[in-house]
Formats: sequence, C-alpha cells, structure tokens
Amino acid sequence: MGPRGAEGRVELTVVVPMYNEEPVIGLLFDRLRPVLDGIGCSYEVLCVDDGSTDRTAAVLMAGLTSWRELRLVRLMRNSGHQAALTAGFDSACGAYVVTIDADLQDPPEAIAAMLRTARDRQVDVVYGVRADRSTDTWFKRTTSAAYYRLMRQVAGAQVPHNAGDFRLVSRRVVEAINRLPEHGRVHRLTIPWFGFPSAELTYVRERRAAGASHYPLVKMVRLAFDSVAAFSAAPLRVATWAGVLGCVLGLVALGWSVTGWLLGHAVPGWTSILATTGVIGAIQLVCLGLLGEYVSRIFSAVQSRPSYMVGYDSADDPHALPGQRPGSPVLAGGQQHGRAEG
Ligand code: UDP
Ligand code: MG
Repeated sequence: MGPRGAEGRVELTVVVPMYNEEPVIGLLFDRLRPVLDGIGCSYEVLCVDDGSTDRTAAVLMAGLTSWRELRLVRLMRNSGHQAALTAGFDSACGAYVVTIDADLQDPPEAIAAMLRTARDRQVDVVYGVRADRSTDTWFKRTTSAAYYRLMRQVAGAQVPHNAGDFRLVSRRVVEAINRLPEHGRVHRLTIPWFGFPSAELTYVRERRAAGASHYPLVKMVRLAFDSVAAFSAAPLRVATWAGVLGCVLGLVALGWSVTGWLLGHAVPGWTSILATTGVIGAIQLVCLGLLGEYVSRIFSAVQSRPSYMVGYDSADDPHALPGQRPGSPVLAGGQQHGRAEG
C-alpha cells in the first residue's frame, strides 16, 4: 500500500510551492522528513514546481526514488505563488493540508505543533504568525506591516496580523477553497474571510536558507493590489473624490479669474492654466487606470482561463512508482488539467 492509504487519502499533505528553489531542496528535505516521520501519521509532501527554469524539477524527480511520500506536480509555466498554492489545494488529498515556503523561512518543526493544535482545539485553521521578523530586511518589515494594516481594513479584522502562507487547514476548508470561483485569489485573505474556527501559532521567521527571494517590489505591489481589489471597491471611489476636489478647485479658479476681470486686471496666467489642466489630466488618468484594473479583473473572470495548468503529476505516472522511478519521463504521461478560477 502506498503512502496514500486504502482510500487514496492521507492524514496530512504538506504543500510546498517552488520556483527556482534548487539550492534549498536538499536542506528542506533534511529538516522536513524527520519532522513528518516523527508525527507518526500518513502523509504526502506535495511539491508544486511553478515552472522553474533551474534544475528544481530534476532534483525533485530524483527525490521521488528515495522518499515514497514525496509527490511532484509540475505546472506548465510560472503561474505565481498564489496560483501554485491553488494547484496544491486542488491536488492535495490530506485530511489536513499545511502550506509552507520552500526556503525554510517557516520552520518545518512547527507543523507538528499546528496539527496538534488543530486536533486538540478542534479548529479548522491554524495560522502561522510571525513573532519576530528581525531576519527580514527593514524594507520588507515596514512594507509588510503596512500591508497587514491595510488588509485588516479592507478585508476585516478576522485577517490575522503578520500571518503569511504558512498555515494548516482542514479538509473542510480545502473544499471551501476549491469551490471558490474567484479569480486571482489571495489565500491569506480568503481563508480568514470564510470564518472557520481558527487558532494561531507564533513562530520566529528565519532567514532564507539559500537562494534569493522571488518577491521583488513589482510582485509585492501586484499582490497588494490584488488583495485590495479582491475585497474592496474603495479605490474606485478615488475617482468620485478626485472629481469633487476638481470641482472645488475649478470654482475657486473661476471666482479668481472673474474677480480679476471685474477689477480690470489683465490675466496673463497661462502658467496657472497649464498647471490646472495638467493636474486635472493626471487625476483623470489615475481614475481611468483604476477603472482599467477592475475592468481587467472582470475580463479575466469572464474569460475563465485556468490560473495554472498541470503538466505532470507523479501520482498519475505509472513509471514513478517507488523502485521504478528512475528514467520516468518528465512532462510525459501526466494528465493535463487546470482549474478555472473565473
Ligand atoms: N514561489 C512560487 N512561484 C513564484 C514565486 C515564488 O511558487 O512565482 C514560491 C517560492 O519558491 C517560495 C514561496 O513561493 O517557496 C515564497 O517565495 P519567496 O521565498 O521568494 O518570497 P518571500 O519569502 O521573499 O516573500
Ligand atoms: Mg521566502
């Protein structure tokens, strides 16, 4: 019998999204495996290769031969951290599912405590809350503090402070996530939004074990905008307030020029005209841009394109059975499926 038990289920699935994580895989497995073997329940480690361009997939394929609980799902192309997590939730067969970063910033040892908390306190979600972020850069800490403050405002106070994507959820939550038709979801907001009974487990955020972060400023801004736009139409109201402000400024300018005309002053002021048209033009462009952001989300939702495509799943690969895995073709024989999120 394989690690998945008679009915194709395991007690615990650990989902690890990976994008170009070749340098950390060995370190991760060395710490993760003793923890999971020590818990003493059936488990699978579901590595989602998010279209890596380095040797991540090859290293994972090699790992399949020596760790029968390891499973590899390869996405056709880089689809982003959140989409890789969605792929993990869709494929996971555990009664509980933990999501953890590959880079050992989240300590694997906390998984045992999360599972214990979920069982003892009968909760569906255990959030990993970062108690100490001194290993993160000043910039990362400041921007992320601002992000969580903003998120609690737009998505509600049930969003835990400083909880990223290291968390445990029960099968009930996984099924709720998998039923969500939402496009571009941000799991750290949608999961609290459900309102399942939850607990928090604090941990110290460690330094990345190797390699470099895949969250440059552009991706952070994108995540922040996706998060706000998924929960609030408030940015659209910027247009209304900018319009009101424009009206007030226009009336003041009108009063000023009429007074000048009545007093017989010549009005040379092309500078002020240029300045006001410039400001108003800029406000209009900002508002159009905001509308565009929401229209593009409606457009993707209507298109209903999958947010990821699976190119290979070692669970569907007959060549990947323990003992027969070497030489099994990468990206062959795997069922191709994706998930429409729109
Ligand atoms: N990741 C991913 N797809 C991406 C970017 C990142 O699957 O397009 C994974 C990455 O391999 C890691 C996790 O998401 O396991 C978090 O990424 P990272 O550590 O780079 O982010 P940071 O911790 O710097 O915010
Ligand atoms: Mg990281």
